[in-house]
Amino acid sequence: MTTRATELLRVVHARPGVTRADAARLIGVGTGATTELVGRLGQAELLAEGPTAPSGARGRPTTALIPHPRGPLIAAASITHEAWRVDVVELGGGTLAGRSAGSQGLGGAEVVAAIGAAVAELRTTFGGRIRGIGISVPGTVSRDLRLDASNLGWHGVDLAAAWPGAEIFVAGNDATLAASAESHRGLAVGASVALHLRIEAGLGGAVVNGGQVLVGALGAAGEFGHMPFGDPAVACPCGAYGCWGTAVDGSALARLLGHEQPPDPVSYARRIIAATDPQPAAATAIVATALGRGIAGLVNGLDPDLVTLGGLGVDLLAAAPDRIDEAYRAGLMGFRRASPPPVLAARLGDDGPLAGAAEEAWTALLAALA
Ligand SMILES: [Zn+2]
Repeated sequence: MTTRATELLRVVHARPGVTRADAARLIGVGTGATTELVGRLGQAELLAEGPTAPSGARGRPTTALIPHPRGPLIAAASITHEAWRVDVVELGGGTLAGRSAGSQGLGGAEVVAAIGAAVAELRTTFGGRIRGIGISVPGTVSRDLRLDASNLGWHGVDLAAAWPGAEIFVAGNDATLAASAESHRGLAVGASVALHLRIEAGLGGAVVNGGQVLVGALGAAGEFGHMPFGDPAVACPCGAYGCWGTAVDGSALARLLGHEQPPDPVSYARRIIAATDPQPAAATAIVATALGRGIAGLVNGLDPDLVTLGGLGVDLLAAAPDRIDEAYRAGLMGFRRASPPPVLAARLGDDGPLAGAAEEAWTALLAALA
């Protein structure tokens, strides 16, 4: 493919349904050349044209550029502490099909095998159109696609078993992928520096600088939940003491309420945060305060435009916004208080990690098509 053809596919991926006229402007090509380009990409079964939504504007009608009905697809998978899911994602981010199931009590290899079976079935269903896979995981991924998820007690889980020999195989940390997705298709589009935090079992996140996720020297940046903002007496599954993550998640709520550590820490936390009785509400307030204080520390250190919250952060923001805000403002350096960066629920919500996995896989696929 030519560079222009790849650019056109990238434009349609970023803005599905973009008009042919707008796409031509965005890649800086005349209408005649664009018509020719769209024709070639149509023959290659990568792009199709459809009617645009009526805009009321005068002038010659244009068409919308959409994914080809027989075009390539990506399998996007996510593993959480309680479930797995696989979606089939087309150019532009639309979902064509999905499979999911609970994963409680399963080991890492069993979850990967379940995803592998779903992917194999979907590849048959879609007749070879699925060209690669992206997987979001609640832990860190090594270069040879081994997953370590300390909160689940999983070590060295072979992710590649989900699709042995896949042409495109990408995998990454859930919070990092959610941050990337929020910067591509959510509230952080166009931000100079965006901070995304995601609470599930523990807390993770990422800094996105000018649209680029800061990955770190080892690819393990963003483990903000393991900054020592918590109680120094509390041991974290990561091996350290006093981790912030242990002060803001379901384990923190259970400790405050004198409950056993729950086997379903995310669902448990959602139930507690939603409860209005005085005891759970008081525990939620303490956790919300710990969250707000930590966010202040990160904002002081990183100077982001905005902070987006995913996972249980959304629940805490809905249940105790004043506690978060009060602690956040109290921890901010004085000069920031007049107009602090907003702390907002991520637009992509719980879909963020999966959307990020789809983005990563599509980025790799578009590069492979070029
Ligand atoms: Zn830790």
